[in-house]
Amino acid sequence: MPLIDPFARAISYLRVSVTDRCDFRCVYCMSENMSFLPKTELLTLEELDRMCSTFIRMGVEKLRITGGEPLVRKGIMTFFAGMTRHLETGALKELTLTTNGSQLRKYAADLVACGVKRINVSLDTLDADKFAQVTRWGRLAQVLDGIAAAKEVGLRVKINAVALKGFNEDELFSLTDWCAKEDHDLTFIEVMPMGDLGNEDRIDQYWSLKDLRARLRERFTVTDLDERTGGPARYVRLEETGQKLGFITPLTHNFCESCNRVRLTCTGELYMCLGQEDMADLRGHLRASTEDALLETAIRAAIERKPKGHDFDYSRQKVDGQMTRHMSHTGG
Ligand code: SAM
Ligand code: SF4
Repeated sequence: MPLIDPFARAISYLRVSVTDRCDFRCVYCMSENMSFLPKTELLTLEELDRMCSTFIRMGVEKLRITGGEPLVRKGIMTFFAGMTRHLETGALKELTLTTNGSQLRKYAADLVACGVKRINVSLDTLDADKFAQVTRWGRLAQVLDGIAAAKEVGLRVKINAVALKGFNEDELFSLTDWCAKEDHDLTFIEVMPMGDLGNEDRIDQYWSLKDLRARLRERFTVTDLDERTGGPARYVRLEETGQKLGFITPLTHNFCESCNRVRLTCTGELYMCLGQEDMADLRGHLRASTEDALLETAIRAAIERKPKGHDFDYSRQKVDGQMTRHMSHTGG
């Protein structure tokens, strides 16, 4: 029986955060002195495998590995290699990841060997100084080299750029042009109210994608596309270049009606909605028995609680629906 939620949405997409740690400290994602979970709290690689395999048996067809930075988790290639068996049987249709790109030179070929075909790489700016400023610990050259490595081994790369007011507004066209030249897809993301980031002022960071789109129209003919992936992304084509651009607009656009996904944290908590606090702690059920029956029951019960939608709202210049957890906890 596939996983169907109370609003008749089939859950076919699982995003899995395999670590809360990261080698960057992006200003919209983490504070500089983040404290991380003790390693003993994390699901082991074997437990991650068992968890994902159970979801796949229950109808999940697409797995996205994220974090924190997934490629800094020790031994993570063992996990990827384990998932290959589900690709081979056809139960899993797609295995993919979202990464900051810093470790791609090291792992791109291994990822391909495990059956990964497409990856998302987060990159908000092509200016080395600004990159260092927004990621705090990241180096642009290393990421660009990682992206090049991915391309060399035939991985399709989609660039995810967070739209940040006063930060990358002036790079709208240079980023678009660079992606066209390099043949990368490009998606812009609106900054979401996640986590307590100390002195960062969220509203100041917010650049509406409605405004970004209007700017694109100054130079391009922008055609809306019907394509839907069950997530918050909406796509357009730039007629002059033929490029496809994505927009992830949880704040200006409600996408929940077609939501097909749930999120598993690195400690085994299942979040049914990125924008709600409710979660099911699956780790106990996993550890309580070597059989998967308990876990399956807990997963079905959790999906029964999947809410209709999120409550993010930036209207009236006040952040409503603010989430206390960080994006690196649930996985972006
Ligand atoms: N470390 C990997 C990376 O950066 O791609 C994967 C995890 S990261 C949390 C996933 C995505 O979430 C990234 O594209 C990042 O830009 C985005 N993200 C992080 N914090 C965000 C926020 N507050 N609002 C919107 N997107 C955010
Ligand atoms: Fe790390 Fe990704 Fe968060 Fe940046 S957005 S701090 S790279 S987890």
